[in-house]
Amino acid sequence: MNNQQAHGADPESAKGEVLDALVVGGGVSGIYALYRLNEQGHSVRLVERGSGLGGTWFWNRYPGARFDSDSYSYGYFFSEILAEEWQWSEHYAGQPEIERYFNFVVDRFELRDKVQLDTTVVSARFDSNNNVWVVGYADGQEVVTRFLVLATGMLSEPYIPAFDGMDDFQGVMVHSGEWPAEGIDFAGKRVAIFGTGSSGVQLVPEVARDAASLTVFQRSGHWVTPLNNRPFTPEEQEEYRKNFREVHQKRLGHIGGFIHEPEPRLTFEVSEEERLRKYDEVYNSGGLRILSSNFADTLADPAANQEFSKYVAEKISASIEDPDLAERLIPNDHGFGMHRPPKGTSYYETYNSDHVQLASLKESPVVRFTKTGVVTTEDEFEFDVIIFATGFEAWLGALKKIDIRGMDDEALMEAWSDGPRTLLGMGVPGFPNLTFVAGVHSVGGNLPAFSEVHADWASDLITYVKRHGYSRVEVTKEAAREWTEHVYETVKPVLLAKGSWYQRGNIPGSDGKILTYYGGLGTWREWASQVADSGYKGMEFQ
Ligand code: NAP
Repeated sequence: MNNQQAHGADPESAKGEVLDALVVGGGVSGIYALYRLNEQGHSVRLVERGSGLGGTWFWNRYPGARFDSDSYSYGYFFSEILAEEWQWSEHYAGQPEIERYFNFVVDRFELRDKVQLDTTVVSARFDSNNNVWVVGYADGQEVVTRFLVLATGMLSEPYIPAFDGMDDFQGVMVHSGEWPAEGIDFAGKRVAIFGTGSSGVQLVPEVARDAASLTVFQRSGHWVTPLNNRPFTPEEQEEYRKNFREVHQKRLGHIGGFIHEPEPRLTFEVSEEERLRKYDEVYNSGGLRILSSNFADTLADPAANQEFSKYVAEKISASIEDPDLAERLIPNDHGFGMHRPPKGTSYYETYNSDHVQLASLKESPVVRFTKTGVVTTEDEFEFDVIIFATGFEAWLGALKKIDIRGMDDEALMEAWSDGPRTLLGMGVPGFPNLTFVAGVHSVGGNLPAFSEVHADWASDLITYVKRHGYSRVEVTKEAAREWTEHVYETVKPVLLAKGSWYQRGNIPGSDGKILTYYGGLGTWREWASQVADSGYKGMEFQ
């Protein structure tokens, strides 16, 4: 990578210029938005706070970070070139390969000169006289854009719990989502991991391999099932190439944007033998099929959920030598899938090693951190490294870092003080010419699939505004009320754990407002098409 590539366009060139669109965020959704807006002939720039592209796949470079949905279904589908020229090496590719993929896309489609890295957006103010956004960067520079496209990510703002005495700790403290590029050498180190969600589960076996000791601080057990990673063979790649269009259509037709065949049958309408056969099939197939190809009522009927949870509990018990330890690892406060289920590789088996121990925070909470480690109500631990795999402040965390002001200087977070209100997760009343890609209320599943349809819709809207000679478009309050109510309706039949990040349940003192859309990609697309086809009903133009 040469210097120009590494740092993107010269920020000085922005002076005096008015862009059609500024995309904020260089992750999965931002990169595609850049492609699409550019392809449609809009003058566009993408700014990214990191020193590289990939978003979540740039920051989460902890050992073990990898896809848990099939590599070839996670990527983009906007061009067959992607299938012809890119070969995934594994069914569930690792972070370095994923990061390479996003850089390949940017270079292959000649977007690099529209990317400006190391640029943190701190403010965005709508100038209602000129119908433009004035966007401020951390270094004091400003850029003017007609449209602001926020692709700031779903899980991009790390959440670290506040424990007493944290500042006293003299060892290394790190969050899984802010992993240092140079890595961390665990050889001979005493290591702690807080958190047993998807990130913690991926980290545990990797850290245990080298560390002198590993202590996993678990608040709640999670339902970890095998990832079953394996090479993605050239034959499979050929098959995927041939079926590229069909795979794309399959994704678009799936409620969560995945490629998995849904199972329409219900848990108790089949014989016990057939139920077990199905359970074995989804359990052994790896990835997220365990949820999206499971019986249709697994996440809707408590009895069905309990039945599958019992099945997984037996598998967990079988992986752990010490029955008491198994009992502590098996979740007892939520059923399978009520939190997003982590996928693991030898996760439970790792606890069979003598140098790995589980410290249950429910049995023995943290009292404080010290210079050398952690004191709980029952124990005192010494560590060299403490890892927080404690999750993210979903969606809103990243938006809160930007002072976004719409009409009458209203702050976005004030407008959303009673929870986000959007039309399609794409627009907000009082915030003209602002759109999101994979934002709140617009996504629930395979993010690249959603990102493509969102960015297409946003780019078409911008094209429409320009073609009709308008300079401003704004969502009406009524349209946002209607969509937001629909979002809340879609979550009602879903069994969700209270602490789930989908509803900010992981953030202490949160209001539990629903952030994600459960209606599915198909319904989203239908609603979005109706809005567009009706000449953008629910949106006002000037
Ligand atoms: P997470 O699922 O939110 O898990 C956070 C963990 O930290 C939980 O075990 C939680 O305990 C614990 N925790 C939170 N606050 C705590 C506190 N005050 N004290 C002790 N423990 C605390 O976060 P994540 O594992 O980073 O995953 C977030 C999401 O990222 C996933 O759901 C997934 O969508 C995505 N992800 C995907 C992959 C992949 O394979 N593709 C990998 C990693 C992440 P409780 O359970 O008790 O709340």
